[in-house]
Amino acid sequence: MTANKGKVLLQVQGLEKKFDDNQVLDGITTDICQGEVVAVIGPSGSGKSTFLRSLNLLEVPTGGKILFEGVDITDPKVDINRHRQKIGMVFQQFNLFPHKTVKENIMLAPVTLGLMKEEEASEKAEELLARVGLPDKADAYPDSLSGGQKQRIAIARAMAMNPDVMLFDEPTSALDPEMVGEVLEIMKELAQTGMTMVVVTHEMGFAREVATRVIFIDEGKIQEENTPDEFFAHPKNPRLQEFLSKVL
Ligand code: ADP
Ligand code: MG
Repeated sequence: MTANKGKVLLQVQGLEKKFDDNQVLDGITTDICQGEVVAVIGPSGSGKSTFLRSLNLLEVPTGGKILFEGVDITDPKVDINRHRQKIGMVFQQFNLFPHKTVKENIMLAPVTLGLMKEEEASEKAEELLARVGLPDKADAYPDSLSGGQKQRIAIARAMAMNPDVMLFDEPTSALDPEMVGEVLEIMKELAQTGMTMVVVTHEMGFAREVATRVIFIDEGKIQEENTPDEFFAHPKNPRLQEFLSKVL
């Protein structure tokens, strides 16, 4: 896809994260613009999840800054919860609430935070269930769903907050192979609506086809970033060349 580049949504400036002596992120700088779909790839343990989780302060940076919609969210004085509402997150392990129905899962955040009345949230949930192809699962409990269905519900739940950006951390890695496609398809449709997305993934086909930009992280740094065509056809960094030779 081509980037229909809008205004800058996220500005990451010299981001660092250290766990004790382990410098996991070592100066990450990048801007993410409205409508971009950024695929983040890299070896296991290279800091991809830490990077993604830093974007909504699930990990608190030990250096650098993150500006979201112009606000420095790393400033301790900022009310992070207010900004987090605009940042949807989808995890590898779905993280659905097992004792709530599918529809209750989707309605929970907007209703609890007082952003929608029950009725509005209910209508929104039904609309989203239709969008992720599960209109008949409103009253089902998560345990009765397949992994692919659970992840589609997790995506619908994140969308219920009308986020300005959605973060995905290996959303298909916990799925049986036959269910990967249905989740990637929903994500592709979401990208086509213009949603800004940052996706940590091992799905190189998705990165190539759907992303507007691919970032390679290794040793806590962005080693290379480019349009998918250039990124895969002409990787420059030797570490990226080696990584691609293993995964493609
Ligand atoms: P990736 O997602 O690329 O596999 P992660 O961001 O999960 O990598 O992890 C990068 C490094 O940070 C690893 O060495 C990991 O052990 C370490 N790490 C991640 N989270 C924590 C944590 N909460 N406490 C201590 N170390 C962590
Ligand atoms: Mg990870």
